[in-house]
Amino acid sequence: MTDLTSLTLAEARKGLADKTFTSLELTDAHLSAIEAARVLNAFVMETPEQARDMAKAVDEKIAKGDAGPLAGIPLGIKDLFATKGVRTTACSKILGNFVPTYESTITSQLWRDGAVMLGKLNNDEFAMGSANETSCFGPVGNPWRREGSNTTLVPGGSSGGSASAVAALLCMGATATDTGGSIRQPAAFTATVGIKPTYGRCSRWGIVAFASSLDQAGPIARSVRDAAMLLRSMAGHDPKDTTSVDIAVPDYEAAIGKSVKGMKIGIPKEYRLDGMPAEIEKLWSEGAAWLKAAGAELVEVSLPHTKYALPAYYIVAPAEASSNLARYDGVRYGLREQAKNIVELYENTRAEGFGAEVRRRVMIGTYVLSAGYYDAYYLRAQKVRTLIKKDFEDCFARGVDAILTPATPSAAFGIGEKGGADPVEMYLNDIFTVTVNMAGLPGIAVPAGKDAQGLPLGLQLIGRPFEEETLFSLGEVIEQAAGRFTPARWW
Ligand code: GLN
Repeated sequence: MTDLTSLTLAEARKGLADKTFTSLELTDAHLSAIEAARVLNAFVMETPEQARDMAKAVDEKIAKGDAGPLAGIPLGIKDLFATKGVRTTACSKILGNFVPTYESTITSQLWRDGAVMLGKLNNDEFAMGSANETSCFGPVGNPWRREGSNTTLVPGGSSGGSASAVAALLCMGATATDTGGSIRQPAAFTATVGIKPTYGRCSRWGIVAFASSLDQAGPIARSVRDAAMLLRSMAGHDPKDTTSVDIAVPDYEAAIGKSVKGMKIGIPKEYRLDGMPAEIEKLWSEGAAWLKAAGAELVEVSLPHTKYALPAYYIVAPAEASSNLARYDGVRYGLREQAKNIVELYENTRAEGFGAEVRRRVMIGTYVLSAGYYDAYYLRAQKVRTLIKKDFEDCFARGVDAILTPATPSAAFGIGEKGGADPVEMYLNDIFTVTVNMAGLPGIAVPAGKDAQGLPLGLQLIGRPFEEETLFSLGEVIEQAAGRFTPARWW
């Protein structure tokens, strides 16, 4: 039998349906792969017993012909998703050994459809970061290395564990979240596919909140089709999340292979940055040429407020984070430090429980929301956000179906190589992705090529609200043209 871990989700679905192998065999193959890959630090909690129990139960259902669309598929879950009875920490010390008594809506939908949980995946603390280096469990290794080098690279962040585990064949797909790029940037760094759906497409209930008006969950997978299959189970209206939208979930997989002939693809001139590596520039034109060859029409578009997106994001996101994180005070759950009185309890717990980057965000957020600064920073950033959204609306009003951009300004970098002296160096990673969150639009990252050192690079497609299907159709054209990329195993 071929190695079960190297199958795509679609191939595994067929093998399970044809009874070529069982979910228990598929699950065991992944559990062994996880054990052999602990050096990557992608999982912060392995749940082998639960995985086997879930797999056995699904095998019985498959035998009875009563299986859901993801029956028997082993997945990894970002540690930001609450999982009933399984420790959930957002990779922050402040949550300690918090074990939720409830299941997030998204994960409960995945289990409803028959998926199997292998464990919880590493991420940046409270999803704040672009390299998975702020996790209290330590950094994650990217399965990709520069040719001829032993340096361990970051997998991107904040969903670094998700991207690394999917790329290293430790799980068939993973949940992830994206507030400013955390699905798309790690996908680009690891040659995986990641989609951030339209704001409101997936329920946020039971996901640890970072910046509630920007947060959106989505899948990371090894192919565009696999991502479409996962999103179908993850998406949907949830009365428990008032920002979730009541629109029927389409069969995203049906969009794969659909003709893109006549589609209008915008190429935004403001994304052509000074000093952008020639390789990224080349990848971008190649991607455009592939879409053109498939019958799409290319048009230059302008998104004039792009240059304000990153500064505005780094006001809005910390502002919301400072408010969301106020609940971690040592009183109800998680870490509690010794103290003489209640104020000291808050202070000691928060000082001890939050890492440096989270503390920085809380301080920035509190500052921009404080009396006297609110109008100058927060209110102005909100106005900029409206203008960014309008840029996209103007583009779509001209008949543009999707916008093509690079996913990241560079390939993966080494652990500890960026952001040490200046956090802005790290923030610049999200230059092409934050606009999409600010505007609430769907965005997909698809592997499209490699740089001179053999590292994967991705392209991003941005769509109209609730038109994820267009992104799947176009994404698959890029995937077909670029081919698949698998890292050479060194772990
Ligand atoms: N890197 C960005 C940040 O640190 C985005 C993170 C995310 O999307 N969760 O805020």
